[in-house]
Amino acid sequence: MIVTILGNNSALPAYGRHPTAQAVEVNGEIVLIDCGESTQVQMQKYGIKWRKLNHILISHLHGDHYFGLPGLLNSMSLQGRTQSLHLYAPAPLMPILDMIMQVADSELAYPLHFHPMPEGDATLEDNPEFSIICFPVVHRIACHGFVITQKNSGRKLVLDKCYEYKIPPTFFNDLKQGKDYIAADGSMIPNIAVTEDGAPAKRYAYCADTLYSESYLPFIKNVDLLYHESTYLHENADKAILRFHSTTVQAAQMAKLANAGQLLIGHFSSRYKELDAFAAEAGAIFPGVHVTVEGTAYEI
Ligand SMILES: [Zn+2]
Ligand SMILES: [Zn+2]
Repeated sequence: MIVTILGNNSALPAYGRHPTAQAVEVNGEIVLIDCGESTQVQMQKYGIKWRKLNHILISHLHGDHYFGLPGLLNSMSLQGRTQSLHLYAPAPLMPILDMIMQVADSELAYPLHFHPMPEGDATLEDNPEFSIICFPVVHRIACHGFVITQKNSGRKLVLDKCYEYKIPPTFFNDLKQGKDYIAADGSMIPNIAVTEDGAPAKRYAYCADTLYSESYLPFIKNVDLLYHESTYLHENADKAILRFHSTTVQAAQMAKLANAGQLLIGHFSSRYKELDAFAAEAGAIFPGVHVTVEGTAYEI
């Protein structure tokens, strides 16, 4: 599971930093979280292939989280996309996209399945490779965070034992699913005799944009990697409250309370040119912090 940061700034692009977008690669597929302006350019720049992209999640309808979407949808159509795309976003986005296509007298060349976000928490996607849940965070308008869970590849084969019991390789996939093997003479080899527990599932949580609130803590407990917005340094905590955002110290406290493995921070205000102080402030509370850098891939 790999998280590539395509945009790490807040509303205004500044100092070479772009509005929010992240590409999460999970078992070979890309899930795009938010789609700020110039996301498609960033995808090209950092080698994120739209052919692997089947799911897009939009946290909320502030422009810095979706102004890049019409362009990306249109470009994929021009480039000959035919495979379906699933878009999970607040309901008012659908008529906006419809209007854009209508006034251009255009149609997408591929099926776009629009899934309006629920009010509360829900499972958005659950397939053999990964699952996605959403949960409400606390922002000036309705906004959701997400947890993506990578499913493991099932039971792990103990090859020596498989050969010892003469299990044909054509049955190995069934073993990974936990099935017992029945030999030609009718004898049964129990699954547990030839497999062991697979690697634990990995989880990535995304929290933006949000005021610091423990209301969403239960959803992000014990994740391997947490992204939490940190628009401001802590000296601007009053501004964070006023604008429904968080500070370095609050993001780090949330990672600590959640018992997260690592923390990514981003959504930096355009008032800051240098970000060194972000690392120092958050790192003093939660040492496993990374101040996100665009184009960097964080592996879980
Ligand atoms: Zn924002
Ligand atoms: Zn916002």
